[in-house]
Amino acid sequence: MRPDGALARRADPGGASRDVAAGAADTALVDTALVDTVLAWWQGARAERDALPWRSTRDPWEILLAETMLAQTSVVRAAQRYPDLVALFPTARDCARAAAGDVVRAWAGLGYNRRALGLHAAAGAIVERHDGAVPSTLDELLALPGVGPYTARAVLATAFGVGAAVVDTNVGRVLARAVAGHPLRRAEAQRLADGLVPAERSRDWNLALMDFGSLVCRSRRPACPSCPLGSTCAWRNAATRPDVAARESGRGDGATSSGARAPDPPGAGPNEGLPPDPAVGSAGVTARQSRFSGSDREGRGRIVRAACDGPVLPAQLGQITGWIADEGRARRVAAALVADGLLVEGPGGELRLP
Ligand code: SF4
Repeated sequence: MRPDGALARRADPGGASRDVAAGAADTALVDTALVDTVLAWWQGARAERDALPWRSTRDPWEILLAETMLAQTSVVRAAQRYPDLVALFPTARDCARAAAGDVVRAWAGLGYNRRALGLHAAAGAIVERHDGAVPSTLDELLALPGVGPYTARAVLATAFGVGAAVVDTNVGRVLARAVAGHPLRRAEAQRLADGLVPAERSRDWNLALMDFGSLVCRSRRPACPSCPLGSTCAWRNAATRPDVAARESGRGDGATSSGARAPDPPGAGPNEGLPPDPAVGSAGVTARQSRFSGSDREGRGRIVRAACDGPVLPAQLGQITGWIADEGRARRVAAALVADGLLVEGPGGELRLP
């Protein structure tokens, strides 16, 4: 491991290495050992994850639907709701034929309801531009409404097996910690991820890296002591670098690398003495969400849920949101839903799904 935290060329039994950018102006050599190690770990861990309902399909529309959900909904919640959504909208044509409000109604409870409108608009564009078939190029996928870089690459990799690298919150965290050892900007993270994809195993690799971040290199309490990347992990090893140890020891209990204890590596003990987690602030890594209870998001969700059952009158908004003492706030939030297209206003001021 190089002292600056970037990966140096390691022994590579197969002789193959890839050039990847691992810093602002730094090109490091990452060999296939990391890929092989994570894939080997995944072989032993994949059984449980393969039970997730979207793992058994290669249908591009079903995967687009699943990835739209997974972008901002927990795996557990998405797994509960995915079968019903696929049954309701088994193809892009079925989704496009439905009213936007029907998609919003089916989506209610998953959060961030604008994704339902995005999915409906994407379905319309797939029918209009691609005769109902989900396109298989990055540019065409990114041109669909509501489809961003994460979703587009996830569809490419897991439905079409194309050598695309998905950077979600789990992948961004692993790359920042295990490979770079510093926070990654968006382009850096994507470039680094692109350089790791094994051409013949794109689907497996993306799923393996996402699962590794979810199960081993977790956001809180990563499983460093048992991690198969422990010996090469940039963040873990930075904790024992002499310069970091000396700097950190000056803050704490007096130990230095020249004669005493180095800081505890990540996950091996108390956090004192660790360099800052490079995943924090890295591209693709989700920041901790603000409190939901009492938030405008909660009020939005309550109004949309009420509208799923029928028109909502302005006079009901305070009660629906629970903000009886602040009806002005309830009306402002409802107006934002209208501006987003999630509600339409009738002639009498009543609010309905589109
Ligand atoms: S050693 Fe810890 S921080 Fe590094 S990749 Fe493994 S779990 Fe993540």
